[in-house]
Amino acid sequence: FAEISLKDIDQVANSSFPLCMRHLFEKLREDHHLKYGGRMQLGLFLKGVGLTLDDALVFWKSEFSKKVGAERFDKEYAYSIRHSYGKEGKRVDYTPYSCQKVISSTPGVGDHHGCPYRHFSEDNLRAALSKMGVSSRAMTDVMDKVQNKHYQIACTLTFEAIHGSSCDAGINHPNQYFSESQKILQ
Ligand code: SF4
Repeated sequence: FAEISLKDIDQVANSSFPLCMRHLFEKLREDHHLKYGGRMQLGLFLKGVGLTLDDALVFWKSEFSKKVGAERFDKEYAYSIRHSYGKEGKRVDYTPYSCQKVISSTPGVGDHHGCPYRHFSEDNLRAALSKMGVSSRAMTDVMDKVQNKHYQIACTLTFEAIHGSSCDAGINHPNQYFSESQKILQ
């Protein structure tokens, strides 16, 4: 699929981002800031869905400037974005995180990265899922998988509930969730 463009990013986030990335995206829009773990998890995901480096810099700057100012963004944050695109330092082209990596992360206080199926409280997860459009019947199945620690299956059931379409492969990567969603919606 084509590169995701900045003007569509909110709409695409709403329709095709898995909950882990939707949460980070919403928090960034709300707080104009994300801590390191969140910047890495969301930043590499966005790179994986085809956001160009130039657009990524515009996107992050537009939010962070509202909090820390444009100058501090350029000084303290732009480097690490270029770095994650392999344009600084050792020029490693970092790859987006898999579900396994996101699920096994350990977000601390004030962090918004991680997998909501594993890291949210039950109340917060229920609220987030209903905001995504998961019906109460589907919710029961999702929460049952969460209680049994089958987080990726819970995410797959969420995908199926909101797309009204099966996902036989199962969800194992946030970027795969995105591409499966785009296949259905486009
Ligand atoms: Fe994200 Fe994977 Fe968790 Fe789904 S299962 S919310 S894609 S980390």
